Amino acid sequence: MKHQRMHPPMGRLDPITGLPNRKKFTASYRPKPGAQLVMLTLTSPTQFDELLRAIGHEHAEDFMRAGAARLCEAMDPAIEIYHISILSFAFVMPFGVLPDLLHQINDQFNKPLICRSIPVSADIALGVADCHDADATFVLRAGLAAARDCRDTGRDWARYNRKTDTAHQRGFLLLTHLTDAIKAEDQLHLHFQPKYDMASGMPTSAEALLRWCHPVFGNVPPAEFVPLAEATAHIHPLTEWVLRNAIAQAGAWAAKGLRLNTAINVSPRNLTRRGFSAQVAKLLNCYGVEPSRIELEFTEGVLVNNDPVVLEELRALRATGIRIALDDFGTGFANFSYITHLPADIIKIDKSFTQRICTDPRAAMVVHSLIELAHKLDYSVVAEGIESEKAYGMLKTWTCDEGQGFYMSPPIAPAALAQKLGPVPAVA
Ligand code: C2E
Ligand code: MG
Ligand code: MG
Repeated sequence: MKHQRMHPPMGRLDPITGLPNRKKFTASYRPKPGAQLVMLTLTSPTQFDELLRAIGHEHAEDFMRAGAARLCEAMDPAIEIYHISILSFAFVMPFGVLPDLLHQINDQFNKPLICRSIPVSADIALGVADCHDADATFVLRAGLAAARDCRDTGRDWARYNRKTDTAHQRGFLLLTHLTDAIKAEDQLHLHFQPKYDMASGMPTSAEALLRWCHPVFGNVPPAEFVPLAEATAHIHPLTEWVLRNAIAQAGAWAAKGLRLNTAINVSPRNLTRRGFSAQVAKLLNCYGVEPSRIELEFTEGVLVNNDPVVLEELRALRATGIRIALDDFGTGFANFSYITHLPADIIKIDKSFTQRICTDPRAAMVVHSLIELAHKLDYSVVAEGIESEKAYGMLKTWTCDEGQGFYMSPPIAPAALAQKLGPVPAVA
């Protein structure tokens, strides 16, 4: 048979496919100018999980064996193929012949793999990394990073890219450092951005926005680390930290006689845990803050799946007098079928719309109509991202209830906010 190969002794063989394993690769690998490592991943870990669930472990092992055989068939038997980890295979060869071979491998895997008569589609990704100056550990990691880029971009194959790799590594490091940051006293803090009543120009509330001053990376924006936390269970202690500190600040302002509501951003994932509303109630009680002084901002993701726990928690929060705002309205999957029954009191129009109203008549028409529609359906409307007097004036004419943006104030430290608060300069 074309793909029959000479195998190393046991211990350096993968027990499922019989191919030489990572130990063998590491022992025989030498950095070489011009040589390239190709990493093939058979499918994504999530898809493999689904496969395991659907057909069980034994059939999944057949899937790996069939994948290995398919790859071996596509290759010259003189090229050693290694089974590196459950779903990944690697081989080394000169670059010159690679592009054609990679297309050929993709073609081979277009036909499903047969696992005990069940046809299963592989969804391969191919990553290529340079072996010049790279040790075995690095080249394997680089190959895997490139295969991941290939999967993310949907291309036939991808070359190792230091930029995306550094971004992934930074994300991973941030996530591992987040637990320490939550415990540390000097890394996380809150800035507050006021919202104003558009008609009177008076401040109504202040939105807490999280800031992370990392000891090595410096200031890390929330748009970078909050989504990382949201993909893991880290989001729960992170939100707990934000709630505690924002509610404590609300209590301090109330004690000084400042009539200012506090808005807090909460991840949709927090609501999927039963008991979130009770956790908020406990903190309000602890700092002596009236629920009517609090607004919780969620993005539209909160409504995906119509999760009964989420709806129950939202109902429980609103029953106490807390107001719910739907943040970044218009950027997600929002559609007119559910705008009639949103479990929310406030719609916050995303800044990507607000920023265009002065220059794009169609964006202006959308925002104006949205305000009218939201009012007819009894929602209060907040426009975020107001950057000019002109935008403020237009939104005021359209009877938008509240506004927020750099024109009035950027997010600032709480002490600066207490000093700054006053009405927005009158708009003609
Ligand atoms: P968001 O809740 O929609 O907050 C508005 C973002 O727009 C803030 O960015 C704010 O600084 C920025 N912004 C405000 N006015 C203007 C303006 O006039 N022009 C422009 N260009 N931008 C303006 P920031 O603070 O970087 O926060 C980004 C996002 O990170 C937030 O969007 C929110 O989704 C998330 N986030 C921030 N803090 C928290 C938090 O404590 N918990 C959670 N779950 N998410 C948070
Ligand atoms: Mg917000
Ligand atoms: Mg927003």
